[in-house]
Formats: sequence, structure tokens, C-alpha cells
Amino acid sequence: MPKKRKRVKSKMNTPKLRNVEKSRSQATIGKRPPGLQVCKKCQAVYLRKRWQWNYPMFTENKNDKSVATICPACAVTRPEQAEGTLELYDYDSATQRQEILKMLRNAEARARERDPLDRIFLWEKSGKTDIIYTTENQLAMSLGRQVRRAFGGDLEFKTSAEEDIVRLRWRGVIPNKK
Ligand SMILES: [Zn+2]
Repeated sequence: MPKKRKRVKSKMNTPKLRNVEKSRSQATIGKRPPGLQVCKKCQAVYLRKRWQWNYPMFTENKNDKSVATICPACAVTRPEQAEGTLELYDYDSATQRQEILKMLRNAEARARERDPLDRIFLWEKSGKTDIIYTTENQLAMSLGRQVRRAFGGDLEFKTSAEEDIVRLRWRGVIPNKK
């Protein structure tokens, strides 16, 4: 019995030592975590399976071409790529329009701060209608509701289950209520 125990012990020691050696050398060669990606456009960092703001990690790795990429939000540039749209029309006044657009810019900045993939990537004006395009459908929903809550008016939306797309329309002045 003692003989057997001894053999088991020696078998266990050797691989353990090797593993320690291996992980030490990995730690010194590259501090870079596995799966790391860095967006060269917006400086967002993909780490532990999600996109986030991590400025130290960005500066440390920004010159490493092997991790440089374009994040999913920066890759969205065309209107047809939007997950959400919010149309705004029939403003009460030009001042109200300015206030709403300002509120939307602030709300977007807060959303982007929380999650780098939450963005308004396009602002359009078509006649008297403003159209904003978002990378995430939830952001469009949230923005539409914030406008409705702060300025009243009428908010309607259509979702497309197949494509995960939401289209919202906010109307400032409701004719039959006048
Ligand atoms: Zn990016």
C-alpha cells in the first residue's frame, strides 16, 4: 500500500509544476486576455464576452493589429441596418423641437456610456419630420417613451418579430385633441 501511494504522489506533482510554469510564461508574454478585441473607431473594448468602455485596456492594446477591429455598433452605418427608428413630427413649436432633440442627444450619451453598443447612429430630417436611427431596438423604445413622458403627444410603434426591428412614430400635436 505505501508503495502505491508514493507512485500516485509523484505522478501528481510533475504535471502540477509544469502547469504553473506554463501559466507563468503566458502571464509574462501577453497580459492580453483571451478573446480581446479593440474597436479602432470608438475605442470600445471586447472583454469577457461583452463590449465595454475600458480606457486602460484600450491604450494598452490600441497598436496591436491582431486585436484591432470594428465593433458591431460602429459597423452599423446605413439606415436599413437600424434595429430601431423613431420618427418625430408635428411639433408644438420650433423650440419644442430643439428641446426634444437636445433631450435625445443627452439620453443617447447616457445610454452609450452604459453600453457602447447603444447608439443613435444617424439623424435625418425629411421635410418636417426628424428620423433617428438606433443600433438597438430597446434604445429606440426607450427614447420614444422618454419623449412621450416629457412632452406628451402620441407615440405609436410597430415591431417586426422576424427581424427584431421596432419603428416608432411620435406626434407632438394630436389634431382631435385641439
Ligand atoms: Zn466601435
